[in-house]
Amino acid sequence: MKTVGILALQGDFDAHGKAVEQASSSAGILARAREVRTAADLAQCDALIIPGGESSTMWKLLEMEQLIDPLRAFASQKSVYGSCAGAILLARDVTHPAQASLGLMDIAVERNAYGRQIDSRIAKVTMPEGELEVVFIRAPIIRRTGPDVQVLASYEGDPVWAEQGRHMVTTFHPELTANTLVHRRLLQKL
Ligand code: GLN
Repeated sequence: MKTVGILALQGDFDAHGKAVEQASSSAGILARAREVRTAADLAQCDALIIPGGESSTMWKLLEMEQLIDPLRAFASQKSVYGSCAGAILLARDVTHPAQASLGLMDIAVERNAYGRQIDSRIAKVTMPEGELEVVFIRAPIIRRTGPDVQVLASYEGDPVWAEQGRHMVTTFHPELTANTLVHRRLLQKL
């Protein structure tokens, strides 16, 4: 049995636990979810999800809980998946405004890039296998991907699901829709 940690300092962590359980049964990969608030919690995990929320607040909480170094050490061996605010924390470069991040993936993201008028939307994103209906909430746009980054889905020409080696980001919230594709891909990395 593998354990997928969900960073639970702030934001939308609860729904990810359920998504991991559903993905586990549909993929036939035994995995359970566990909330992560301390380095000791993290040490029990085989992969980590950083959920949506407010990336600047999440970063401050990570600093307060002294989780930045343990997270970097974890990521040097195990998979980290960031959704929306989590994607911002995984990016190498963050703009609008610039802020510190873990830099686990060679991508540049612009925060709140779809504008304030349309805070959230349901949209169909494009994958080689077809379309996937997803939810965006004050999402960033991935403005640059490095040569080692693979784009798995895009929307209006911009990448919205990308991976680099064992790490992965989505700018949308797959935990809010029934399709377990994204969480299944994370379980396949275990
Ligand atoms: N706008 C948020 C940020 O910049 C991200 C929103 C989300 O995670 N749904 O951190």
